[in-house]
Amino acid sequence: MSSAPTTTTKPLTYRRYKDGDDEHLPWQEEIFDADHSHKCPTYIQSTPPCQGSCPSGEDIRGYLNIVRGIEKPPAGMPWQEYAWRRLTEANPLPSVMGRVCPAPCESGCNRNQVEDFVGINAVEHFLGEWAIEHKLAFPKPQTKTGKKVAVIGGGPAGLSTAYQLARKGHEVTIFDERAELGGMMRYGIPGYRTPRDVLDAEIQRILDLGVTARVNTRIGTDITLEQIRTDFDAVFLGLGAQSGRPLPVEGGDAPNVVTATAFLKAFNDGRMRHVGKRVVVIGGGDTSIDVATVARRLGHIEQAHESDRPEVAIASGGAGFAAHDAAILSKRQGADVTLTSVFAMDKMQASKHEVEHALAEGIAIRGGMAPVTVVRDASGRATALRVAQC
Ligand code: SF4
Repeated sequence: MSSAPTTTTKPLTYRRYKDGDDEHLPWQEEIFDADHSHKCPTYIQSTPPCQGSCPSGEDIRGYLNIVRGIEKPPAGMPWQEYAWRRLTEANPLPSVMGRVCPAPCESGCNRNQVEDFVGINAVEHFLGEWAIEHKLAFPKPQTKTGKKVAVIGGGPAGLSTAYQLARKGHEVTIFDERAELGGMMRYGIPGYRTPRDVLDAEIQRILDLGVTARVNTRIGTDITLEQIRTDFDAVFLGLGAQSGRPLPVEGGDAPNVVTATAFLKAFNDGRMRHVGKRVVVIGGGDTSIDVATVARRLGHIEQAHESDRPEVAIASGGAGFAAHDAAILSKRQGADVTLTSVFAMDKMQASKHEVEHALAEGIAIRGGMAPVTVVRDASGRATALRVAQC
């Protein structure tokens, strides 16, 4: 026999301190007679778990205190601007991060032990948008050091480095082999996740500090590293994680088995305009959701010519389907996309809302499946995936 559920009217919150209790008492007053151990309790200042979990090291507690009205902005400055300035001390790309960061800060949030985490990522997103809307700029350094630094790679690492160095008064030049800065934020993440006007605005704000961008410049081809070493006082290498992980099972080297990075790069370059009729994405993290969603949205065309196959566009690195663009776009039909994950669906690494979006787009998700073999046809192309249930 089951007992009736009990209800409680007691709020599920407990707070030792009230808002505004942010002043430390003298140490002597902080120490109290808590038990009869021979040791005194000691109080230490340490990094808050949210900040400790943030790869950018943002002062999350600091800007949330401003957002909550505990710390007041200087006279004449809106709280949104004050909070944004505190946030961007560490990270100059809040609007992008507010959209794509999987928010490990929220997993580290102490409020998880009470009811649920603070929506840090959403606050960051809001502040980033507010700053773009109000055309906020970074303050230029008062003095120049006279030092020149070369930053190789214009992705998030290179841009963040350029930002921090330029604020310290160094003269920074970013070298990038592509036509536009942004790295994986532009050539890896699809535009519906990081709208290009948002990305451009946050990059331009960094360039406005006086940072020079030399795009379409590949080190070793257009300029040598020796030359850079001669011309600059220091060099930062921010080459990024460009290579994907190949599928480590038998048949994983079939021509139409491609890595997520190669796939997304071909899509963001505009080289790949359609996929096959049935697509299997193996993963379970946010990147695999991006791949599955892009594949689903691209669709397939019946009886594609061999030279129009997606793997040809991915491998080409060049013009892609230029000759057949119009015909291809008019013939596109939906693609059946299945995403497999070793973990059960509720334990996948992708954010919960990303999984929900993928399901809403019609992507089939099969959790608890590990790839075992890629089945190939006589020509060596993959036609099926054999999996084992985990
Ligand atoms: S969501 Fe923002 S604050 Fe949280 S971990 Fe990511 S970058 Fe850091």
